[in-house]
Amino acid sequence: MSKVVVIPCSGMGKVYGLLAREAAYKVVNELKKDEAETKCLAYIVTGDDEIRDYMNGKKCITIDGCPKMCAAKNAKEAGAEVVEELKSTEFAKQMRAMKPGTATYLNEEGWQVVDAIAEKITSIIDEMEGK
Ligand code: SF4
Repeated sequence: MSKVVVIPCSGMGKVYGLLAREAAYKVVNELKKDEAETKCLAYIVTGDDEIRDYMNGKKCITIDGCPKMCAAKNAKEAGAEVVEELKSTEFAKQMRAMKPGTATYLNEEGWQVVDAIAEKITSIIDEMEGK
């Protein structure tokens, strides 16, 4: 199976974007280094041929930070198969993490949300691999 592409929200001014990005980095840099990678959402949005060719048919997990769902929408638009559309806001809500940090800084509560999102992604990848 080719690597699963994990695409986080690129919202720079929101804590929910930061939660999504940190969770994606944790998966591709630590938990699932050999099975997952990430691509820049801003590049995907450009519609450049190189990234469209890369994304075409790839299995993707997206993590969005608001109802606009930019990561999920643009990954699909680029031809990827989005197998799961996660929302960092939902994780924070479920964990009652009302103040997980700021747009540039996560507190302990925020890092707990990051861990929960990263664990969810890891379990999805395990399922995809039949583990
Ligand atoms: S999902 Fe929301 S916060 Fe994230 S990039 Fe899109 S508009 Fe910005």
